[in-house]
Amino acid sequence: MLDFDQAQTLLANAAAPLARREHVGLDEAPGRVLAADLDATVDIPPADNSAMDGYALRLADWQPGARLPIQQRCYAGDTPEPLKPGHAIRLFTGSLIPAGADVVVMQEDTHEADDQVEITREPRPGQHIRQRGEDTLAGAPLLAAGTQLQAAHVALLASQGLASVPVYGRLRVGILTTGDELVPPGGARETAQIYNSNGPMLAALVRSMAAEPAKVLHARDTEDDLRAAFQALLAECDLVLSVGGVSVGERDLVKPALAALGGELSLWKVRMKPGKPVALAMIGDKPVVSLPGNPVSAYAVFAMLVSPLVRRMQGREELFPPVSRLPLRTEHPRQDSREEFLRVQRRAADDGNAELVPYGHQGSGVISSLPWSTGLARLPADVQVQDRDRVPYYDLRHWLA
Ligand code: AMP
Ligand code: MG
Repeated sequence: MLDFDQAQTLLANAAAPLARREHVGLDEAPGRVLAADLDATVDIPPADNSAMDGYALRLADWQPGARLPIQQRCYAGDTPEPLKPGHAIRLFTGSLIPAGADVVVMQEDTHEADDQVEITREPRPGQHIRQRGEDTLAGAPLLAAGTQLQAAHVALLASQGLASVPVYGRLRVGILTTGDELVPPGGARETAQIYNSNGPMLAALVRSMAAEPAKVLHARDTEDDLRAAFQALLAECDLVLSVGGVSVGERDLVKPALAALGGELSLWKVRMKPGKPVALAMIGDKPVVSLPGNPVSAYAVFAMLVSPLVRRMQGREELFPPVSRLPLRTEHPRQDSREEFLRVQRRAADDGNAELVPYGHQGSGVISSLPWSTGLARLPADVQVQDRDRVPYYDLRHWLA
């Protein structure tokens, strides 16, 4: 048996970041991972400009009751004239600051009549001027390699005038479901059969991490069928996930099929519940991770053990999203010889603080617990956990992203 933390670290380091790189336009950038450190090349803002609709003037020209002639109306995008002494230039948010001006007075503090403006409140030196480079300076680090790009990063890149960025190739994940009892959703089902939920679930999980479920296959419980399916997936994908058939049943033939492909097998039993049987095989330089067949176990193992490996292969810097500690509500003390990951909902208690409420039925086949849960609470092995004890909370919005 392997400890959960050991297994997580082993798996996270099982493969290197993808060697494939490409350039994508900003439209394609969300979810992609930056493949190079980028420095700013322009100052943002590129020139001093106005933070307000108002008037530019020299502070020295202001005195109570003074009326300044309006020299020019300068809209955002216009180039202002140098400010003449004793004058004001009408400005709008984003208008460039005229040479010679040192303050902007917002229009709410003015009174304009007959092409003259009266300033009704004493200006503070430098007020309402956005300084060149106050946001970003040319030459300063902009974004680091390994950053997964989201809308905020796209804004920053666009502000620098970049239309495309270097990113890691999109991770191609192959998915293999196994089992003679399974039929695809939409097909006819006999009493002894169940619908294949793991296949669509894993494809959706892979997509939610901005990777590509490049090929999804189903194999019957024979070594030949499994081997052929693994070969087909390995030919096209960077990483292969199989699900089911990895336990100790007579028809659990994933291990021999991987061994027949020359796979170096490791990591057979992880001391975690749900999800004990988990296997990693390296075939050439490609990892194959075999997940337990129970849908809840497959989901939890994907989140806790596979997602860091996916992030690593995607080139991402952050492999392990943050874990918080929150009080667990439990009617009876809980204790198990394996670490247990409870499906929980994070809720606001009466006092407004967050607490974790476990789903009532924690069986590893209970799929209805998955959409209900916001995360997983981690209970230590061999320790009694009482009501309101603080336990690590893995927020699935982060762990499945
Ligand atoms: P196994 O590890 O193959 O013995 O599977 C464990 C349990 O998970 C069995 O009850 C299987 O029927 C179920 N199972 C395996 N694969 C899937 C799947 N793709 N969709 C839904 N249930 C599955
Ligand atoms: Mg099976």
